[in-house]
Amino acid sequence: MRVWSVANQKGGVGKTTTTVALGCLLAQQGKRVLMLDLDPQASLGSYFGHSPESTSHSSFDWFAPPGKLDPAQLDASIHDTDASGLSLVPGNTALATMERNAVSQEGMGLAVSRALTCLWDRFDHVLIDSPPTLGVLLVNALAASEQVIVPVQTEFLAIKGVERMLNTLQMINRSRRHPLPYLLVPTLFDRRTQAGVSSFRHMRKTWPEHVWNSAIPVDTRLRDASAKGVTPLALDPDSRGIQAYGSLLKTLLKTTSEAPLVATGAVVHG
Ligand code: ADP
Ligand code: MG
Repeated sequence: MRVWSVANQKGGVGKTTTTVALGCLLAQQGKRVLMLDLDPQASLGSYFGHSPESTSHSSFDWFAPPGKLDPAQLDASIHDTDASGLSLVPGNTALATMERNAVSQEGMGLAVSRALTCLWDRFDHVLIDSPPTLGVLLVNALAASEQVIVPVQTEFLAIKGVERMLNTLQMINRSRRHPLPYLLVPTLFDRRTQAGVSSFRHMRKTWPEHVWNSAIPVDTRLRDASAKGVTPLALDPDSRGIQAYGSLLKTLLKTTSEAPLVATGAVVHG
């Protein structure tokens, strides 16, 4: 089972869209995919029609102290979607209270990792949509992952968010044996605007070995899909956005199956 998280300590950069796009593309390839919503805003769950206020059968149920996870509850938190092979654990607003209360509880940073070990034979791939704030939820997402995808909106203010995220990754790495690989993914890219082009160039220059060599374009089909609550693949498999996510997926699968090039703090030559 491969676990990737989609994270950036900034909202509106395309985290949820990236999770859905990669999730449906992997499912289309015949993989058994689980998308896990760890954001208290619960946009991923809402995307698929789950109420952010419903407090049962959500990712909230995953946060049990060591040895206390109820398998039936874990099972009930996993919902099918209309796409074959694509499952979902919705989030809910109660996650915000968990964020405040769980910090003091022993072993809660690894609650998601523990729950995932119960599911290793049910899914090939897990994608975690993370919250934009640093706390126990984001720590759980990163601790459970083998790779992090960091969507970065191609505009000037986005750079600060990246720096915060990189500091967080460094902090996480202190308690890991190997640094957590990450890939910065330029999103909402509009090649016709000066701001888009120059922030894309700036990113490539600032983090040359960590930025994906392409970008996800602004594509209204992606927005339309989320408004309609259908996967972008079901709406329009040939859209520019979904094509770009397809090539991103190829890069991600390559970096994890070969040597992980994009590791925090690693110097990559050539
Ligand atoms: P986050 O999860 O980081 O808050 P979202 O994925 O929810 O960000 O994206 C924010 C908004 O931008 C949503 O309305 C979404 O539909 C839209 N969006 C995301 N990516 C694109 C894109 N490439 N082209 C057009 N709209 C996009
Ligand atoms: Mg989101």
